[in-house]
Amino acid sequence: MNQSVSQRMQELEELLNRYNKEYYENDEPSVPDAEYDRLFHELKALETEHPDLRNASSPTMKVGGKPLGQFKTVQHEVPMLSLDNAFSVEEFEAFSKRVEQRLDTNQTVTFCCEPKLDGAAVSLLYENGLLVRGATRGDGQSGEDITENVKTIRNVPLKLSGDVPERLEVRGEVVMPLGAFERFNEQARLRDEKVFANPRNAAAGSLRQLDSKITAKRPLHFYAYSLGVISETTQLPDSHYMRLQQLKDWGLPVNIEIKTVESVQGCDDYYESILARRDSLNYDIDGVVFKVDSVRLQQDLGFVARAPRWAIARKFPAQEQLTTITGVDFQVGRTGAITPVARLEPVNVGGVTVSNATLHNADEIERLGVRIGDCVSIRRAGDVIPQVVSVVKDKRPEKTEAIEFPLHCPICQSDIERVEGEAVARCTGGLYCAAQRKEAIKHFASRKAMDIDGLGDKIVEQLVERDWIKSPADLYRLSKAELATLPRMGSKSAENLRNAIKATQETTLARFIYSLGIREVGEATANALANHFKNLDALVAANSEQLQEVPDVGAVVAHHIVSFFQESHNQQVVAELREFISWPEGEDASSVQSDRLTGNTYVITGTLSTMTRDEAKSALEALGAKVASSVSKKTTALVAGENAGSKLTKAQSLGLSILDEEALHELLKD
Ligand code: NAD
Repeated sequence: MNQSVSQRMQELEELLNRYNKEYYENDEPSVPDAEYDRLFHELKALETEHPDLRNASSPTMKVGGKPLGQFKTVQHEVPMLSLDNAFSVEEFEAFSKRVEQRLDTNQTVTFCCEPKLDGAAVSLLYENGLLVRGATRGDGQSGEDITENVKTIRNVPLKLSGDVPERLEVRGEVVMPLGAFERFNEQARLRDEKVFANPRNAAAGSLRQLDSKITAKRPLHFYAYSLGVISETTQLPDSHYMRLQQLKDWGLPVNIEIKTVESVQGCDDYYESILARRDSLNYDIDGVVFKVDSVRLQQDLGFVARAPRWAIARKFPAQEQLTTITGVDFQVGRTGAITPVARLEPVNVGGVTVSNATLHNADEIERLGVRIGDCVSIRRAGDVIPQVVSVVKDKRPEKTEAIEFPLHCPICQSDIERVEGEAVARCTGGLYCAAQRKEAIKHFASRKAMDIDGLGDKIVEQLVERDWIKSPADLYRLSKAELATLPRMGSKSAENLRNAIKATQETTLARFIYSLGIREVGEATANALANHFKNLDALVAANSEQLQEVPDVGAVVAHHIVSFFQESHNQQVVAELREFISWPEGEDASSVQSDRLTGNTYVITGTLSTMTRDEAKSALEALGAKVASSVSKKTTALVAGENAGSKLTKAQSLGLSILDEEALHELLKD
């Protein structure tokens, strides 16, 4: 039996050593912490049962990983240890009992309670108040010299203020805040750069850059939570909590959630209260740390191999877990973006059952190398949708299936297309696709499009939800009686809305093109297209080269226009709309009525009393002028209404002509 026990212990040691290397040295774990912790505990239990079989260099006796050779090594004068873990209230109570027994006291012990920040531990050494060295924890005895890198972290003070000890070593955690982490990974995915599994790895990886300019670009944050070396002459309070307050007074950032409690119950309440707020914190925490508050008692209690006896980490449910992908669905977003979503064997992640996780896009599927049937690591933190973080290739079953990206939209069967250089694939059935209907109709009715007065977002949502409107053409089929049955819609408002819809049946070609919601065809492009092609049939028939003859239309926009009009569902919607809507064809196709102001650029600022800024803009554009959003030397004149601010000052300093509202009317009238 001992043979198989010792075999298993050796197996566990090998696995844990490998995972340690991946985690501490490469910042790229291949399994979630929960899996690591499970194996670690299995080994620890076997070692307790069979002390004779314990290897002196077992991972249960070690802290962290070896410092990387590329950095100078720093010897820690006081070792930087790990923490023992408690996974239940019983384990915490057992810890508290051990503390009382060792101290031989039945007086209540005060505990300092702190969030257990999930980042990378660092040591900061200050001499005469100046930051002279930053180091990682490494293997606890020696770490990596990362002085230049820590200096780039914005909230790490380079100089302390007040009556500071001659030598002061501050220890704490460097974290990457959650929002910043998500944004960082999103950008990395777009640029096909390294994506970090979680904020801890991102913080550790960012800290250990050989070029501190790279660290400087990473959004890192430091929190101090203890002291290392302090000059002997320094008088400090006995309370750990009060020492942290002292650090704060010297200018060091200390987490605001830290507090002291007097009882085991107090610790439990603290645990529950932080756990309840975990998702609303903007940094990852994997538990709370309870420390005996009196430094004198801490010294009495001392250390074991890898952790102090006076502190314990009570862990939260893990935010990453292993599970299996049973299939992949493709969801269509409001703007037509197709997102692959992994269907999972349900798994509890951070206290919540998760059965779906996003795979982002086709590039991400390729980057992860994921297949249906794979064992994957899932992460769920904060408000962010659960994500597939990595594939555990070691656990890949024999039969797995490739993930096929669909060619047609799962909702409306229109073609799916992916523009070169873009990560996202989209359904091209914009006006027709049920998933995109609400957004398409809101856009169609919006002020700069068909400008349907009174058709707000809420009403559009109700109309779509009742299935009364499947395409924008259905708007023109709505009767007053139908509209009057909507919540909070009286007969008068129904009539007004019906009339407002009717009133848009005569429009301009430019507005009509804009209202179709073709990707990247904004107001200005719609105007230019109308101006150039003069009628819709010519635009629909145009190929990419012909489209690119239009000012401001490049290859990408041309491609969007061609594929929009090629999609049969869109052709059908446009044909239906033409039964209701008309515009002057030919020379009057665009909203440009003359070229009197062609070549002139205006900027409009402040409040106009007789028209809105948009109306002023349309009126100027109708005469061929350009309307820009910022003042420059190229601006012909600034139109300044009431309360004009910085744009007016800038225009004056550039010596530009300034038109008041009256002058604007003169200009438009001529
Ligand atoms: P730990 O996370 O268990 O606890 C010690 C660390 O907590 C300290 O070094 C410090 O950095 C941090 N900490 C955060 N807030 C603190 C506070 N307020 N006061 C004091 N310390 C605070 O540390 P460890 O020894 O680095 O790592 C062990 C854990 O790392 C494992 O339990 C496992 O979850 C994870 N791990 C995972 C893998 C993997 O492959 N996934 C591999 C190795 C380790």
